[in-house]
Amino acid sequence: MIIETHAHLDFPEYKNDLDAVMARAKESGIATIINVSSSLKGCFASVDLSRRYDSIYAALGIHPHDAKEVDNACLDKIRELVASSKKIVAIGEVGLDFYRNLSPKETQHSAFVKFLKLSKELNLPLILHCREETPESREAQDMLFKAMEENLELPFKGVMHCFSGDEKLLRRCLDSGLHISFTCNVTFKKADRLREVLKRTPIDKLLLETDSPFLAPQTERGKRNEPAYLRYLVDAIAEDNEMQKKDIEEITTQNARRLFGI
Ligand SMILES: [Zn+2]
Ligand SMILES: [Zn+2]
Repeated sequence: MIIETHAHLDFPEYKNDLDAVMARAKESGIATIINVSSSLKGCFASVDLSRRYDSIYAALGIHPHDAKEVDNACLDKIRELVASSKKIVAIGEVGLDFYRNLSPKETQHSAFVKFLKLSKELNLPLILHCREETPESREAQDMLFKAMEENLELPFKGVMHCFSGDEKLLRRCLDSGLHISFTCNVTFKKADRLREVLKRTPIDKLLLETDSPFLAPQTERGKRNEPAYLRYLVDAIAEDNEMQKKDIEEITTQNARRLFGI
């Protein structure tokens, strides 16, 4: 049994065959899927999905690309959605993205701070997205951690999703209490550095995700990703770390249950 902690099944990629995608996920042993919102429209769609499928839970937030959407009216709508359902388990995905920089940095920062305050108010963990212009740059992470230090108490309750940083960032996340989530990009041929970082991640802080429809595993590269492919990630972690698949599944499932209260 596995918990898929990050998928975007409300995206148009799934509009014609979501039932089949969900059936394959179940066959693969995926017990629970957290559908992560990236826009206000996505927040409503995620809650809808959590009503349609028992195994789907929702995270509500706005991706930094759409930070300009975040105003008081938007936050009020999210508060209403949280009050309307018991299946909302996190605020996310929220954070900073200076890689594609689709919103000005200042706009991203002020939206992020609003979500930090909301997560505190609603007592929900954070699903964090943080991406740099260049792998050497630390501007986004510095700004992200500073904002969290100013607005939250340690240890932080949340997860750094789609981890793609170095050991230094790993340390920083772990020291502040965050969980670390890896995607199927661990299976990519050129991901040696990332596989090294994964080896240094304590298993009791590890979560699994696909970030579907993005980042399909090496063998399915170029295709649409889907939660069933989480299997490939479990296989890769087991092989690289000489662990039993069963143990990886059990421990990451417990981690996810603890963090998200599922
Ligand atoms: Zn993301
Ligand atoms: Zn995502």
